[in-house]
Amino acid sequence: MAKGKKIKRSFKLILSIILLIIIGISCYFIYDKILNKTTVSSEVEKLMQENNISDDNYSKTLEYVLLNNIYNENYLEEYKDIEFRDQGNFANVLTTFLPKGYSGSEINYIFNLSDTNIEKLENIDYIDISNYYEYKNFDVSKIDRYNDYYEDNNYNYEDVVTYVNINLDLPVYTDTLEVDDPNSILVLVNKYNYLPKGYEPDDLAYLDGYYGNNVPVRGIIKEPFLELQKAAAEEAGIDFMPTTAYRGYSFQATLYNNYVASDGVAAADTYSARPGYSEHQTGLAIDLKNTALGDGIRLTDEDYEWLSNNAYRWGFIIRFPEDKTDITGYQFENWHIRYVGMDAAKIIYENDLTLEEYIDMHVTEY
Ligand SMILES: [Zn+2]
Repeated sequence: MAKGKKIKRSFKLILSIILLIIIGISCYFIYDKILNKTTVSSEVEKLMQENNISDDNYSKTLEYVLLNNIYNENYLEEYKDIEFRDQGNFANVLTTFLPKGYSGSEINYIFNLSDTNIEKLENIDYIDISNYYEYKNFDVSKIDRYNDYYEDNNYNYEDVVTYVNINLDLPVYTDTLEVDDPNSILVLVNKYNYLPKGYEPDDLAYLDGYYGNNVPVRGIIKEPFLELQKAAAEEAGIDFMPTTAYRGYSFQATLYNNYVASDGVAAADTYSARPGYSEHQTGLAIDLKNTALGDGIRLTDEDYEWLSNNAYRWGFIIRFPEDKTDITGYQFENWHIRYVGMDAAKIIYENDLTLEEYIDMHVTEY
């Protein structure tokens, strides 16, 4: 009996102590809140009174502009819509963009942009960015092109941003750019980006070719290709061999000119690159052939099935897929693989992207 009572009593004691602690903590928080509120609000209240601002206009942003002396009565309505952010450029964005005519909710969009884009936006008059601001690859300086491309096509805004960034709204082979780093394994060579005329990789290595030839490639892709070749044989019984890989500028010129002579420029452009615009000049592209097939055919559908689902394991991608001809500018080539490295190849494969889309969405900084 006595023991039972003792346990009961100490239990009550512990319970009381816990209760006291809880009450103590709650009081501290309530006190703290009231105290803070009174210290901040008395000053803000005074400022609000001085500026004839009614209580229902109060917001954290209003408090901020009042305390930082950047309050402007013209924007009283907008302050309510602007989400307060504790970040370095908060005041600057408000004082720069409210006078340009951006609404409070549009100011919130602006905080979503990169510093580079904010800087570009600072230098131009008001534009409506509401359809684009959420995309990471949105580039303020291309807004007119986005709007035009959206009008003329049936794409959503997200695709419009990517496609315009890739230059699909521009005619091919005009306004072209020389690539910055021809030695990069992510170098993008297409109908809008060309290699320096004299460019030749300085690490050329050789693969055994289908025609008994030595096929030159960049040294860094030799091993990955041999591994791919081995896996194709072991896993799928396919004997892939390269027919051609690195091609120099003058070789490509001869090739292209011959195609033009027989098929005309328009047709030749759909399957052959102009000199300087061929990915083969990078030494990172390889054309394949299944050695078991006759001269007229490079790969069967089954060969392609294996290749398209496995090449990424060694850093290669199908460069000109069947359903992406609008983006790549080339007809389907099931035999043309391109080395981009393991990381890029995996993302490209898993997200069904082209190299153009990958670079725009994952590499280029806006
Ligand atoms: Zn090719």
